Order: sequence, then C-alpha cells, then structure tokens
Amino acid sequence: MSAQQTIHVGGEWLSAASGATREILDPADAQPFALIAEGGSEDADAAIAAARAAFDDGPWPATPVAERAALLRRVADLLVRDREKIGLLESRDAGKTLEEGRVDVDCVADAFRYFADLVIGEGAGRVVDAGSDEIHSVVVHEPVGVCSMITPWNYPLLQASWKIAPALAAGNTFVIKPSEITPLTTVALIELLVEAGLPAGVANIVTGPGHTVGARLADHPDVDLVSFTGGLVSGTKVAQAAALGVKKVALELGGKNPNVVFADACATDDGFDTAVDQALNAAFIHSGQVCSAGGRLIIEESVRERFVAELARRAAKIKLGRGTEDGVECGPLVSAQQREKTEMYVASALEEGAVLRSGGKRPEPSEVRPAEGYFYEPTVLDQCHREMKAVREEVFGPVLTVETFRTEDEAVALANDTEYGLAGAVWTSDQGRASRMARRMRHGTIWINDFHPYLPQAEWGGFGKSGVGRELGPAGLAEYRESKHVYQNLAPRPVRWFAG
Ligand code: NAD
Repeated sequence: MSAQQTIHVGGEWLSAASGATREILDPADAQPFALIAEGGSEDADAAIAAARAAFDDGPWPATPVAERAALLRRVADLLVRDREKIGLLESRDAGKTLEEGRVDVDCVADAFRYFADLVIGEGAGRVVDAGSDEIHSVVVHEPVGVCSMITPWNYPLLQASWKIAPALAAGNTFVIKPSEITPLTTVALIELLVEAGLPAGVANIVTGPGHTVGARLADHPDVDLVSFTGGLVSGTKVAQAAALGVKKVALELGGKNPNVVFADACATDDGFDTAVDQALNAAFIHSGQVCSAGGRLIIEESVRERFVAELARRAAKIKLGRGTEDGVECGPLVSAQQREKTEMYVASALEEGAVLRSGGKRPEPSEVRPAEGYFYEPTVLDQCHREMKAVREEVFGPVLTVETFRTEDEAVALANDTEYGLAGAVWTSDQGRASRMARRMRHGTIWINDFHPYLPQAEWGGFGKSGVGRELGPAGLAEYRESKHVYQNLAPRPVRWFAG
C-alpha cells in the first residue's frame, strides 16, 4: 500500500518531515486499508507558519463576506456530489454503518450552508448610541486569527465541520489535527476546500498523534485560538497549554447523559413503544460512541421492570456487523482499546452489584462480523446506582445503566448528579412537568420526548466538565471572532484634564 500525502501546508500536499507513516485500520476486521503521513511537531510548526502568513498577508481575512459565503456553499455542493464516497470512507474509518456515514455528510453540508447564511444575514456592525451627535460608535467583528483545531474519532467529519465552517465564515485561517485513528474524511474535506477555491495557506492539516502534533497546536505562540473536541483528560491538557499563551480556548468534552423516563410517558402502548425505541437509539447508535449518548436510563420505578425487559429484548436483537453490509444496524467499536475500556466498565458494574439484562460480551463471529473486528454486544445493566464507575464515568461504548426514581425531585437530583452536563432527555406526557424538568436539568441540550436531534441553528455545548464555549448557532460563529469597538469623535477638541 503506498502512503498518501495527508499533510497539507501552504497549499501543498506533503509527507511527514520525518518520513513516518501510519496504517489506518478498519475496525470491522482490524485490517489496514490506508497508509497516511504520521506528522510530528515540526510539521505542526510548518503548518502554523503557513496559516500565520495566510492570515497576516493573504487575501482571506479581508475577502468580502459574500465571497466567503459563496465558497462555503460550494463546499456544501461538493459534499453532496461526493456523499457516497465520503460516507463510505467515514463508515470504514470510524466503524459506522454506511447510512450513518451518509447522514454525517449531509449534516456537514448543512453546517457549511448554515454558517454561509448566518454571515450573509448580518450587517456590517452594531451602531452604539454614544449619546451625542458628535460621536459615531460602532462595534465590528473581526476574525480571531490562526485557529488550531483538534478533533476526536467518533464523528471525525462532523466535528471538523463545526469548527472549519464558522472559522472560515469569520475569515480565519486554521490548522486541523484529526484523530490519529480516523483522519481520512478530514483529509477529504480539505481536498474539497482546495477544490472550492480557498487560497493556499488558509486551510492546513497535519495528521499525527495528540501528544506531539496536538500538543504543539495547543501551545504554539503564533496560534490565537484553540478549539478542541475530545475527552476530559486531553481537553484539560490542551486548556492548560493554551492558558500559558492566553489563547482563546473552546472545549467540547464528554458527557454522561441522563435519559429520564416518567411512567406517564408509557401509559399508552404507542407511548411505551416510542420511549423504549428511543432509549435504544439514545444508548446504542454508533455503539454508544457518541458524546451525547443516553447511557444512563433513569426511570420511574413503577414502569421499570416492563420497560427494561422490553429494552433488553430489543437490544439483544440489534444486528451487529461491518457497517457496509446490508441489514447491519450497529458497527464495531473503533479500536481494541475502546472495546477493552467498555469491558472494564461492564465488569466493574457487575462486581458492584449491577444485574446483566442483555449483552455483556463479544458476539460470535459471523459472515458479516469478522472474528478480528472490535464488536461488543449492546449491554443493558439493571439495578445500577450512582456510586458505580459505569454510572459516573463516560463509557463510550454500547452500555446502558438503569437507575430508578419515585418522585420528580429524585429524578432531577439523579439527572444532575454528574460532573458533566452535555445533554439529557425527559419523557413525559405532562407539559408542566416537561417544562419544570427542562428548567431544572443542568445540561447544554434538553430533549423533551426525543433524543439526539440537534439543529445547526441552535448552540451545542456543555455545562460543567462537558466543556467551555459553544459550537453551532450564532455563538458558534462568535467563538471565531474578536469584537472591536470603533469610537469616532466627529468634532475633536481638547479635554483640558491637565492644565498644561
Ligand atoms: P481524545 O481526548 O483521546 O482525543 C481527541 C483529540 O485530542 C485527538 O485528535 C487526539 O489525538 C488529541 N489529543 C490527545 N492528547 C492530546 C494532547 N495532550 N494535546 C493535544 N491533543 C491531544 O478523545 P477521543 O477518544 O478521540 O474522543 C472521544 C471523546 O470525545 C469523548 O470523551 C467524547 O465525549 C468527546 N466528544 C465530545 C463531543 C462534544 O460535542 N462535546 C463530540 C464528540 C466527541
């Protein structure tokens, strides 16, 4: 297999300066299917220098907003053109089903279109009434400068787009480092940016590890902003490194997301069916490797047994296999390490008294499930409590823990009993209860009678240790901007503060 040049610096596709390469594995069979450049900190330095030069001396920051928006729309069109190709690449790289890969591409195109529309719809600045006809005061927005972007492996392309689209809309230049295990679709996206006509040096990518390339992107003095999506441990390191240079920092970290089900939501057969179906979707889509996965089912005690029995029955029927095979509903975990971590959490919950209702092991190999693939059965752990590791920590695998409550106050206390605060859901047929719960739950997104949808127009991000800042929505654009107040005195005269 010949190595792809996956480092893009100042308009050139390059190998790593060291010549190092890395094999990219298909998690469905643990076989390499691509060979990429394994960059290091010297490649990161070169990319940052290119982004700095393109920001300080290049045309992009001063390109009219209409042209920047037009470029973002061209990128969206190219994504639609390449939907099958990129969707397949995402499916193989991250172990998703093909349909999930395609939907990710659609969502990425939507993000580019949304930020194009957002900047086009804005005026040139906000005029401030200074209280005098002799003063003209206006607040304008300018790009922050050179942005470092560091992204995870679960939604590689989507997470990249939530940073790249607003950063470009605002006129910044950037260097992105995708996860070392799922870099391929981000490389493909940079190719599309080039094809769409982005000037050289505006978009740079360095494929490589976190502790070298990522660390350099976080601490380099010529970087103005660091936007990180990933786990709490690496996010904390990135924030510390960036703080020493007083850089702007945006962190999208993990979650431990409650799915609160009241008995009244299950009072009818349709209500029960919907709540069970969505609890399954909340916990097991992409094998639970979702920052907003509803891995904590918090259910009213009176319906627990019926609900969990049906949930476990359906979980056991989920079709696991290679994501590109017809009929497969769930792919493998992304790596051997991620599967071992999942197994560790299940073992510790069982030791701490949880009751296994389904899953809890690796599935038998089959025609669609090679023995070498990192598959793990969707697992339902009943009778869990808040002290268990699997309840407190982000598992990031197909594991659902079940806790119960009797009163609304208990439900709120459990839902908020996490150091994270990314997302949560409440299922109820009582509108007053829905509103109370939405107000009292301390999470960045609250779903009422739904789970997982997001809108590019609405901010995404977390309370507590789920992060700092927001992506998407107007705040997702504001992250990539500086505000500048321009105060013009139309009739200057001495102030005579000093007698002189
Ligand atoms: P991770 O923290 O291991 O890695 C994320 C990225 O950081 C990778 O590119 C990695 O190479 C890099 N990195 C690692 N150490 C670094 C360091 N010292 N300095 C700089 N960069 C470093 O996370 P992951 O395992 O790839 O992704 C899973 C995590 O991402 C989960 O915690 C999940 O909840 C989170 N996530 C959050 C959101 C959100 O929107 N809040 C979205 C997707 C994923």
